[in-house]
Amino acid sequence: MKLITAIKIKPLIAVLFLSIVSLLTSVAIVKAFYPSPSSSLLGYTIVLDAGHGGRDNGCSGRITDVKESDVNLAIVKKLEKQLRAFGFNVVLTRHGKEGLYQENVDNYKRSDMEKRADIILASNADLVVSVHQNSFPSQHQRGAQAFYNTNSLEGEFFAKSIQKQLLKLLPYARKEANFGDYYMLKIVKVPTVIVECGYLTNSEEEQLLQNAIYQDRIAYAILCGIVEYFDISTLVMTNGEYNV
Ligand SMILES: [Zn+2]
Repeated sequence: MKLITAIKIKPLIAVLFLSIVSLLTSVAIVKAFYPSPSSSLLGYTIVLDAGHGGRDNGCSGRITDVKESDVNLAIVKKLEKQLRAFGFNVVLTRHGKEGLYQENVDNYKRSDMEKRADIILASNADLVVSVHQNSFPSQHQRGAQAFYNTNSLEGEFFAKSIQKQLLKLLPYARKEANFGDYYMLKIVKVPTVIVECGYLTNSEEEQLLQNAIYQDRIAYAILCGIVEYFDISTLVMTNGEYNV
């Protein structure tokens, strides 16, 4: 029997969101909050792209020399787990440390990006999240920030949804999402956001970005941004499970 009638859906959504927000402060509680794997969130497909890989390390930590490519993959793996628990279909562009480029090509970075674009196209994705870490000559620069294609209104809205959650959850997130001149944003047609999770050139963020709990928190902020983007107005809670 349905416990909740349609007329009660909106208040329940509000309660659900308030519950989510209250849980944001504790990653340990967040883990306990995962719904059952059988839950479905409308069958949306999210592509998670861990930036760089293989001989392309991206930037590196000022103190620990940690590779950006490794931090990106760690966060993507955590986000994958959280998204699947919420019922999303998830496709990763890369699963391991290796890059996606063909060997013996003139421009391996281009080859790498083309392969990522092929995977995204084949996935029939609804959204794409590309995870990166930032760097800057000044070690004082810090803060997570989401970037979008200035020609994509949906992408802008998606980036702003994520930025709002990053700001709620992380100590140094930027106040605003921004447009960015990224190759990935230009070649992918579905709403795409680059999340620069922090600066590996800032010593405090360099430590945080390698912390598993902090990585989980970043992943959860992105998850909440995705849920908000979809405006889950049709989400109905019945019998303790979320169903469409
Ligand atoms: Zn990068």
